[in-house]
Amino acid sequence: MDHHIDQRLGRRAAFGVLGAAATLPLISRTAEAAAPITGIRQPDWYRFKIGAFEATVLQDGPLALGEPSVGFPQHPKDDLTTLLRSNFLPTNTLTLDQNCLLVNTGRQLVLFDNGVGVTRPFGLGTGLLLSNLRAAGVQPEQIDALVISHAHIDHCWGIIGADGKPNFPNAQVFLSKADFDYWAGDERQGAQGWIGEFARGARRNLAPVRDRITFVEDGKEVVPGVVAVAAPGHTVGHTVYAIQSGNSRAMFIGDLAHHSVIMLRRPQIEFAFDTDPKVSAQSRLRILRQLAQERMPLIAYHFAFPGIGHVAAEGEGFGWYPAPWGTDL
Ligand SMILES: [Zn+2]
Repeated sequence: MDHHIDQRLGRRAAFGVLGAAATLPLISRTAEAAAPITGIRQPDWYRFKIGAFEATVLQDGPLALGEPSVGFPQHPKDDLTTLLRSNFLPTNTLTLDQNCLLVNTGRQLVLFDNGVGVTRPFGLGTGLLLSNLRAAGVQPEQIDALVISHAHIDHCWGIIGADGKPNFPNAQVFLSKADFDYWAGDERQGAQGWIGEFARGARRNLAPVRDRITFVEDGKEVVPGVVAVAAPGHTVGHTVYAIQSGNSRAMFIGDLAHHSVIMLRRPQIEFAFDTDPKVSAQSRLRILRQLAQERMPLIAYHFAFPGIGHVAAEGEGFGWYPAPWGTDL
C-alpha cells in the first residue's frame, strides 16, 4: 500500500475510535504503528536429530535460475507451467535453495556440501554458509570432514576463501575420483562457457586441499555413520550419502533431484546441467523408489529450506512430504 494512503487511513481509523483525542500527535503516531521493514529472511539454520546424531541444515542462500524452461529445454514448457501453477509456485522463475547439512556424530563434525563460496555469482544473497555456521554456534576450524556430493559450483566452491586459504583448515575432504578428475583435471580447464567456468572453479577449490582428499567409493563407509552411494548422471561421479545412527537413517541426496515438484513429478526429465541426463534419470528413479519403499527420510540440497522429508511413489513420479518442524528422524 502507498505510504501516504496508509498514513491517511491510519489517521482516519484513529479518529473513528478515539474521536477528537486522536488529533493529539502522540496518539496519532501510535495509530500509524510504523516500523521499518527489516529485509532479513530468518531463520537460516535449522536443527534436528538423526538418532543420536545432531544435524543442522545451514542455508547458503537461494539460487534464482530464472525462466524455468531454461533448465529443462527438452521438456514441454506448458507442462512446466502447469506443474508450477498447480503447486502455487511462480511460473516465471525457478528458485532453488541450498541446504548444506552439518552432522555432529558425537565423534566428528561432518559438513555435506559447502555452497557457492566467495565468488557469489548468484548475488549477495548467496555464499552465506560460513556466517550461518557461526550463527549456529560452530566455528569453521571445528569441522572434521567436508563430504561432497559432486564438484559443481554450488557444492564445492565454499572450500577456499577469498585469500586462497582453506575455509575449514582442519577438515579432510571426501568426494568421488570421477568428479575430481572430470572437473579439476586438465581436460576442461580451457573450455568455453559454463563447463570451463565450473572446471576452473573446481580446481581453485580442490587443488589446494588435494593432499587431504580421500576418494569415496560406492557402498563404502566415508566416516563412521556415513556410507557413500553412487548416483551418477548429474555428474559422472555424483554421490549421495546414507547417514545412520542406531535405527535412524536419512539420505543426503545432493542433486539427485533439484526441485520438489518438477523433478519428482517428472523423474525422467532432463536437466540442462546434467552431464548425462539419461543416466541421471535412472539414478533418480532407482534411489527415490528405494527411499519411498523403505520410508527412509531424505535431506534434499535444493528443495525449499530445510529440505527434510519423505518421498512417496505416486503416478509416474513421486510426491514430496516435508517433515513438520521439530521432527527428529
Ligand atoms: Zn546443485
